Parts: sequence; C-alpha cells; structure tokens
Amino acid sequence: MLLIECPWCGERAETEFSYGGEAGIVRPPDPDALTDAEWADYLFNRSNPRGAHRELWNHAQGCRRWFAVERDTVTYVISRSYRLSDAADGEGG
Ligand SMILES: [Zn+2]
Repeated sequence: MLLIECPWCGERAETEFSYGGEAGIVRPPDPDALTDAEWADYLFNRSNPRGAHRELWNHAQGCRRWFAVERDTVTYVISRSYRLSDAADGEGG
C-alpha cells in the first residue's frame, strides 16, 4: 500500500486520499483569446510522464485539504509532499 505524507496530518494510507491530477496547471488569463485547440489543450491534455511527476492530492478522509506531491510514476516513490502555499512557482506545485 502506498503511504502518502499529508503536510498537516503526517503519513497516512493511500486509501484516505483522492487524486487530483497533474499539479501546476495554470488557467489561461484570457480564455476568449485562445483558439478552440488551445482551450481543449488546457482542459484535457496532461503530460503523463514516465518518471518524476507533480500531482495534486486531497486528504479526503482526513483534514480534506489539497496539497502537492512529487512522485515517480515508475517506482511510486514520493520524494516530496508540500502545501500549495509552499509551491515555488505559486501555482500548485
Ligand atoms: Zn491531512
């Protein structure tokens, strides 16, 4: 079982969390200026890397807060777990 470190509650079982997708996706500041293809890319396309990946997780059965995790998609090793307010780029990890 995967153990995930909640920045507020500490290490807990994966079953307490909900996956929120890739971290760092920034909403375009002016959506009306985008083409349909650019808008669709923002809405649907994600990187899906093999290796290091920044993800959003919610501690749904705990404090219910959102946070970011850096996880290797091959080994599942989590190298970092942090609050979104602590993200270096300020955009959710
Ligand atoms: Zn928590």
